[in-house]
Amino acid sequence: MHRLYKLDFKTIDKEKIKTITFLDPDYIYIPYKQDINLTKIHKNELINGYKSSISGSLVGLKMGVFNNLYNNAFIIANDFKEMDVKNNKKMKITLENIKRVLLDNNDIELLNKFKIDNIDNIVVSAINDEVNVYNKMYLLKENISIYLDLIDELRMLFKCNNNYLVIKNNESFIIDECLNVIGTYPSITLTLVEDLYLLENKDFLLDKLNITGNTLYLTIDDIDKLCKYLILIDNTTNIITITDNVTCKIIRCKKYTLLSDILNYTYPKLKNYHIIVNGLMRGFEIDNPTYYILTDDIISIHLIKKLPKYNTECLNCGKCIAVCPVGVNPIKGINLDKCIDCGLCTFFCPASINLREKIKGDNHE
Ligand code: SF4
Ligand code: SF4
Repeated sequence: MHRLYKLDFKTIDKEKIKTITFLDPDYIYIPYKQDINLTKIHKNELINGYKSSISGSLVGLKMGVFNNLYNNAFIIANDFKEMDVKNNKKMKITLENIKRVLLDNNDIELLNKFKIDNIDNIVVSAINDEVNVYNKMYLLKENISIYLDLIDELRMLFKCNNNYLVIKNNESFIIDECLNVIGTYPSITLTLVEDLYLLENKDFLLDKLNITGNTLYLTIDDIDKLCKYLILIDNTTNIITITDNVTCKIIRCKKYTLLSDILNYTYPKLKNYHIIVNGLMRGFEIDNPTYYILTDDIISIHLIKKLPKYNTECLNCGKCIAVCPVGVNPIKGINLDKCIDCGLCTFFCPASINLREKIKGDNHE
């Protein structure tokens, strides 16, 4: 059985979570691969493999950071007309169609999840491990019936008898909503789990739930993507949680918006904060949000006044070895390639040594 931890970060009062939208940025930025002969751009128009999230005109190039890599970007100025390229029709839910849309969208990670024969269980997880990040809960809250319809169709498609929707038992703002509608789907079991770190990880979750056999494991983000690809729900926006650890805002934004524009809109008076992207446990600090562009891999921003002080004096206490869930010994450099980048060693180190970053660096050498 995998060991799981309750982290002692202060969580935000759920009443203080605000949900807002930022759907009219002046500009978006799409990765440049090669020149294009377009000046007028429609919403959903493919540009070097990326669908534009707005309509507008191409006005130049700028350096940006996509998926943590610097790359030139096309600047598209919004004309606020939302002129759309023609959409296709809603697709029938078949395995062939699922595979086709995933290939068309170059979503190989999700495609690989469907390469299982004789599915015994379907597990859909709405768990976000990172503290004060609520994207999956919010997605579920917004679209619960659409998602449950799709899970039910997958159940029928794979003739699967064991189907679970898993959420944390302290997510009170969604549990009632789930309970209200789940009765319409008698073949899907709502499963509540404790708020323990690493249950977002497939192996840890299945272990905790004692689920064995061939399991199709999907996250709520996977279900959301499938809905967008198959049922053709608007796919031009992303959800991001931004928190200063006192307040928390869940924002629906246009894809490819600059993080600095989102921050100016949501926290306009921001000064002297460190910007941590993708969580306090597994995230990374960025210096300049005017380069970072919102893509699917960015889920959250934590704004914090002080960073933990990192020390270099190891006390040889062995805690980092004891807490590691996959048997890495960061001190002796044993099993470094097994690291799942969970951050527990850094979190528990009494000398505040950033072992996680060190291991990542060592693994990249
Ligand atoms: S970050 Fe890596 S080494 Fe550290 S506890 Fe997690 S898995 Fe173990
Ligand atoms: S937890 Fe920190 S202080 Fe303790 S052995 Fe590991 S690196 Fe050293």
